[in-house]
Amino acid sequence: MKLFKKKALITGGSRGIGEAIALKFAEEGADVAINGRDRATLQKVAQKIEKKGRRALTLIYNVRNVQSLKEMVEKVVGEFGRLDILVNNAGILGNEPFLKVGEEGWDAILDTNLKAVYFLSQFAAGQMIKQKSGTIINIASDIGFRPASSPYAISKWGVAGMTKGLARELGKYGIRVNAVAPGVTATDMTGRKDKPLEQSNYPLGRIATPEDVARATLFLASSDSSHITGHNLLVDGGQSLL
Ligand code: NAD
Repeated sequence: MKLFKKKALITGGSRGIGEAIALKFAEEGADVAINGRDRATLQKVAQKIEKKGRRALTLIYNVRNVQSLKEMVEKVVGEFGRLDILVNNAGILGNEPFLKVGEEGWDAILDTNLKAVYFLSQFAAGQMIKQKSGTIINIASDIGFRPASSPYAISKWGVAGMTKGLARELGKYGIRVNAVAPGVTATDMTGRKDKPLEQSNYPLGRIATPEDVARATLFLASSDSSHITGHNLLVDGGQSLL
């Protein structure tokens, strides 16, 4: 088991990529705290974690609220005793063109996808510094490597840059910070939840499944990546090569 007895916190753990990461981590021996806004969906995932013999903690909070982020870390440490792995996964998409974007839409996306990642990482790092160890993984996006005009793409560029900056700042405390950048993935977000194997022109012939992304996240969470920090790992089936 690659994460035996580790304590993890995953935002947006109620479905999609976050759920797949939560279940993968539990399979590998971690106790997992999952955050989301809907009690019923979170509880379903919690039951699946417990069926794998691990402890689950549900944290019903909106990541847009900074005080909530502080409380989430406090609850994880109160319940599990420590925090070894943070996965900043919660995110929302917005596809409005540049000339149509309004302030409300900008704030919703930037608060969720960028500000929450910043402050939750800060609160988690406070605990990890005490432990002299920890790892933070941010779910970025392949779109964060391309020219950005949408708030979504800009938020993911921010996540990519922040990952490198925090990696440099926190390395001296034994904390690694990395990102996973999925390409199009079969989840509710893309409306392709049930169509991962649909033929695409990607070099690997299909879009990603949440499990593809979860396996890459596991690599960055485990000691298999012990000397890797500040990396943004593309999981895009080769789409960026086209
Ligand atoms: P999803 O919509 O299926 O799941 C998103 C999760 O985030 C849900 O659990 C949702 O409840 C949670 N969430 C959203 N806003 C929240 C808030 N304010 N507070 C708490 N939780 C909140 O999406 P997904 O495809 O699983 O995406 C997960 C991450 O992967 C996101 O950061 C997304 O940007 C990124 N990503 C997805 C794709 C893709 O093609 N699906 C590609 C690249 C990156």
